[in-house]
Amino acid sequence: RTYSADDIRKSVEEENVRFLRLMFTDINGIIKNVEVPVSQLNKVLNNKIMMDGSSIDGFVRIEESDMILYPDLDTYLIFPWGNEHGKVARIICSVHNVDGTPFEGDPRNNLIRVLDEMRADGFKSFNIGPEPEFFLFKMDENGKPTLKLNDKGSYFDLAPLDMGENCRRDIVLELEKMGFEVEASHHEVAPGQHEIDFKYADALHAADNIQTFKLVVKTVARKHGLYATFMPKPLDGINGSGMHINMSLFGEDGNAFYDEQGEDHLSQTAMNFLAGLLDHARALTAINNPIVNSYKRLVPGFEAPVYIAWSGHNRSPLVRVPAARGLSTRLELRSVDPSANPYLAIASVLKAGLDGVETKLQPDEAVDRNIYRMQPSERKANHIQDLPSTLHNALKALDADDVIKAALGEHLYNSFKDSKTLEWNAYRQQVSEWEREQYLELY
Ligand code: GLN
Ligand code: MG
Ligand code: MG
Ligand code: MG
Repeated sequence: RTYSADDIRKSVEEENVRFLRLMFTDINGIIKNVEVPVSQLNKVLNNKIMMDGSSIDGFVRIEESDMILYPDLDTYLIFPWGNEHGKVARIICSVHNVDGTPFEGDPRNNLIRVLDEMRADGFKSFNIGPEPEFFLFKMDENGKPTLKLNDKGSYFDLAPLDMGENCRRDIVLELEKMGFEVEASHHEVAPGQHEIDFKYADALHAADNIQTFKLVVKTVARKHGLYATFMPKPLDGINGSGMHINMSLFGEDGNAFYDEQGEDHLSQTAMNFLAGLLDHARALTAINNPIVNSYKRLVPGFEAPVYIAWSGHNRSPLVRVPAARGLSTRLELRSVDPSANPYLAIASVLKAGLDGVETKLQPDEAVDRNIYRMQPSERKANHIQDLPSTLHNALKALDADDVIKAALGEHLYNSFKDSKTLEWNAYRQQVSEWEREQYLELY
C-alpha cells in the first residue's frame, strides 16, 4: 500500500509506536538500521536523518562520510513484536548524498536505477517470487548456534519428525501479520532445513521483502531457542540452502513472457531473456553466490545447479521454465543462494535478461536429460558450460562482463570487487582441517 507523511503520523499515534527503525542494506546484503524515538518523526519525514557512511561496508571513505536517509514511506511497517512500552515500526530508506542526490553505492538506489532503464526499454514491471531456504540449529546456553539440527525430517515431512514445524508456523503467522502473503511453507530435503515461499512482488518490494523475511525468520526462531541461518552450505554431505528466483517481465499487455502462439506458449521475449541469463550466467554467479561458502553448495549431487543449461521439465539445470502459463509464465533461476544481496542480484539478473532481449539472443536447445549423468565430452558436444567453481573464478568472470558490471555501476562494482578480493585472499591463506587430515601424515 502507499502511505503519505500524514498517514504515518496518524498510525504512529494510533498504534502507540515508540521507535522507528530506519533500515537500509550494505553491499554484503546485511541490513543496517538506526533506531530513533518517535520524537524525531518530523526529522525522519523531512529527510533530515544523517548518518556516517564511512562505517558501512562498501559505502564511502572518511573524507566524504556524511549521508542522509530518505525514507520510502510506502515501506512503513509495524513489527508485530512490540512490548508494553509501545511498538516499533520500520521504514526502508534510500541513502542520499548531502547535496540530496541519490548515493550510487546504495544497492537499493542502484536497483531503482536499473528499473528505470527497464521502463525505458518499454516494460512496466519485473516481478520476483523468491524461494528462500534456511536451516534451524539448536542454540547453546549462551545463545550461540550449535551444529545440532533440530529434527531429522526431509522433504514435505510432517511432525513429529519435523520439529521445526511449530517454529515455522509461528514465522508464517508473524509474516502474515506484517502483510506477507505466504504461499507455501514446508520442510526441505535436508534435516533441519525449511523453505517458505511468499507471493511475488515487483522487483524493489520483492528485495525489501527478502530482507524483512530474513529478519522475521531469525527473530522468531530465537524465541523457539533455535538459530536460523541463511548460510548457503552450513553442513557438507547434505543439501545446501538456495533461494530460487522466479521472474517475469510485464509490459502494457500483461506478461511479456507469455505468447499463446509461441512454441510452448513462450514469447520471443521470454526466449531472449532466458538466453541473456545463460549468456551472463558466469558473471551473475559472483553476485548471486557472493561468499566463499556459496561454492560449496554449487556441487553435483545436492539439487543445486552446476552447469549452464535450461529445461522445461527437469529440475537439475540452472534455469527452469515452470509449467504454469498465462499470467504465471515465468523463468526460475536456481543458482541464487540466500547470502546474495537481493538488490544487487535482482538488478543484475534483470540486466542480463534485458541484454538478451535487446540483442535478440537465442538460447541453445533445452536439455531435458539429467546433465549430471552426462560424460564431459557429451556436455561439450551440447555446449554445456560449467558455472564458476570458486568465488575467485566467479569474480574473474564478472570482471570480463561489461553488462553485469554496468548493472552494478562503477561505485558498487569497485566496492564489491575490493571487498570480495579481500575475502578470497583471507580464505585462501587458511589451512583447513581437511588438509591436515589428508596430508599431515601422508607427507
Ligand atoms: N536446496 C536445493 C538448492 O540448493 C534446492 C532443493 C529444492 O528446492 N528442490 O538449491
Ligand atoms: Mg521451492
Ligand atoms: Mg526448495
Ligand atoms: Mg524452486
